[in-house]
Order: sequence, then structure tokens, then C-alpha cells
Amino acid sequence: MLTKRIEHPNGLRADDFPDEGLLERLPQVRGKMIPNEPLAEQTWFRVGGPAEALFRPADEADLTHFLAHCPADIPVTVIGVASNLLVRDGGVPGVVIRLGPAFSRIKIDGALLTVGAGTIDLNVARSAQASGIAGLEFLSGIPGTVGGGIRMNAGAYHREFKDIVVQADALDRQGNRHTLFHNQIGFSYRHTTAPNDMIFVSAMLQGEAGDPDEIAKRMQDIQKSRAASQPIREKTGGSTFANPDNDPQKRKAWQLIEAAGCRGLKIGQAKVSDKHCNFLINTGKATAAEIEHLGEEVRRRVREKFGVELRWEIKRIGVTAQERIS
Ligand SMILES: Cc1cc2nc3c(=O)[nH]c(=O)nc-3n(C[C@H](O)[C@H](O)[C@H](O)COP(=O)(O)OP(=O)(O)OC[C@H]3O[C@@H](n4cnc5c(N)ncnc54)[C@H](O)[C@@H]3O)c2cc1C
Repeated sequence: MLTKRIEHPNGLRADDFPDEGLLERLPQVRGKMIPNEPLAEQTWFRVGGPAEALFRPADEADLTHFLAHCPADIPVTVIGVASNLLVRDGGVPGVVIRLGPAFSRIKIDGALLTVGAGTIDLNVARSAQASGIAGLEFLSGIPGTVGGGIRMNAGAYHREFKDIVVQADALDRQGNRHTLFHNQIGFSYRHTTAPNDMIFVSAMLQGEAGDPDEIAKRMQDIQKSRAASQPIREKTGGSTFANPDNDPQKRKAWQLIEAAGCRGLKIGQAKVSDKHCNFLINTGKATAAEIEHLGEEVRRRVREKFGVELRWEIKRIGVTAQERIS
């Protein structure tokens, strides 16, 4: 078992970005623009450094104005509720955007839902159930937002966003609005080919008429099954690696990780979950570096033992503590 704790040089962990006048270069906005905002508490892993600036747009017009006037050299990163994200310890340079209440509306017309990209998946599932719309129950098992779900093509219980998205509206880095139809989003397993700079702002989701009681029952079954099989009360980022498509024996990521002897493996306070070994856990005060090193160690062992390259499903953003001080 690995127990080495990774210390940061000079004890640096989540210190502030030096004030180099970023805010003065940014356009005036109506929403909140907060410099040096810690992100760790806003992520499921509870690790990572600050955003150089965190922007919570007041509404879509505010976001459009910001993007249209934000200098092109300033990096812009959008996050949902960071349930599939590892924010590195040195923080995220530039502006991090988090969509707020103005992006959390749900409108229902027959079995078609128009939802803001910041809406929590569970709330979409609950609204659909209350309106007798079936086919969206799986959303109750994914602890993210609609925007993050589209980007990741998140899925569970044999359904994924690919199966319900009719179209999505998105803003590009210059603030131009695009309507992307289903085939333009380029859905594949836990991946989309929509350009990286696209920020989804809303989506149309298609369900079908169903019985509210039966839908509620399926949602309960999903919740129970998740609680039994996933460490959902832990500080985690969900499935760490996508299931590989190049294993001759078609094993899932967790099966390879298990067979490589990684269940329970630890680096510092980061640990491979005992309950579901494709989940990494922050057992207390882990750093993002420890979690990332643990993931890389798992990849190395699986590669050495089976010749299979695991692909990170978790998105890693920002810079390491070392990169910040060098
Ligand atoms: C306990 C647990 C269980 C999980 N179970 C599942 C599961 O069963 N199935 C599954 O697929 N996933 C699962 N996940 C992972 C995660 O919940 C999903 O990937 C989710 O869709 C991520 O949504 P988010 O809003 O948190 O996005 P984030 O984690 O914040 O971001 C993920 C990616 O989406 C991008 N993004 C976020 N919002 C937008 C937007 N508006 N426009 C464009 N890009 C955006 C980000 O830039 C980033 O690249 C689980 C996670 C946890 C912690």
C-alpha cells in the first residue's frame, strides 16, 4: 500500500492569485464577479485552489455581454456543480463561470421539457415525474447539472443524455448564440464533440407519457441501487475512468482496477473506494495532487498488468501548486 503524503512546496495549497489587474480588464457585469474565490467547497471532492475570478452571471444576456467583451487571452472555464471535476491545488487561472438560478428554469409542454443548463438533474427528474413524463428517471441518479450532463453525455441505468436531448442552446467564447441539434452535439460514451468553448445555457429534453406512480417507483429503485453500490456520501468525483473499449475481455474499468489490486489503495488521504473501486475518495484532507497521483498510479498498474490504457472520465482543471509557484 502506498502511504506517502505529497507535500506542497512552501506549504502552498489554495493561496490567492496575485492581483495583476484581471478585474480591471473584465467587462462590467450585472451578476457577481468575485476575485480569488475558493472553489474547493463548491466541488464534490472538496479539494483544489481558487478561481482567479468566479463569475455568476445574472442571466443569459449578462453572460452574452461578458463573453462578447472579455479579452480573448483571458481563459474562461465553465463548471456545473463540479461532480465530475478535479480542481488542481494551484487553482484556475482566468474566469470560472458558474450558472445560477436564472439558468435553472424548467418549462413543460406535453412530454417536452425546456430546461436551463444550470438545473440540477434530480430536479428535472422530479418535475418530469410530477408531470407524468417517463424516460428521464435516470437523471435522479446523476448528481450534476444539465449543462455538465450534456457535456459529459452522463448516463446511468442504460440511459444517457444522448437519449433525451433534442437540441441545446449554447454561447461560444465570443458570446454568439448557437442552437445545436442532437446530431451536432456529437454524443458518444461519456463524451461529446461540441466545441470546447461552447457554454450550454438551455436544452430541450424529450420524454414520453407515463404513469407518475410507476415513474416515482423507478426513481426510488435507482436511488436505492446507487446507495448500495456507490459511495455517494463520500467526497468523490464519481466514476474516475471511462470503461475502456480496447480490452479484449470487455472488462469494465472497475473490474480492471480490482484485478490490478487497486481496491483500497491510498496515497496520502486519497483512496480508491472499497465500495466501488472506480471511485476515488478524499478521506479527509487530501490534496488534488494526491487524488490525481492516485488516479495515475491506478492507470499505471492497469496498463502494466493488462496493457489497457484507462481514460480519465473526471475532468481535471487548473494548475498544480508547483506550476503556480514556478
Ligand atoms: C457520487 C457521484 C455519482 C455519479 N454518478 C454518475 C453516473 O451514474 N453517471 C454519470 O454519467 N456520471 C456520474 N457522476 C459524474 C457527474 O455527476 C456527471 O458527469 C455530471 O453530469 C457532471 O455534471 P456537473 O454539472 O457537476 O458538471 P461538472 O463536474 O461541473 O463539469 C463537468 C464538465 O462539464 C463541463 N460543463 C459544466 N457545465 C457546462 C455548461 N453549462 N456548458 C458546457 N460545459 C459545461 C465542465 O466544463 C466540465 O468539462 C457521478 C458523480 C458523483 C460525485
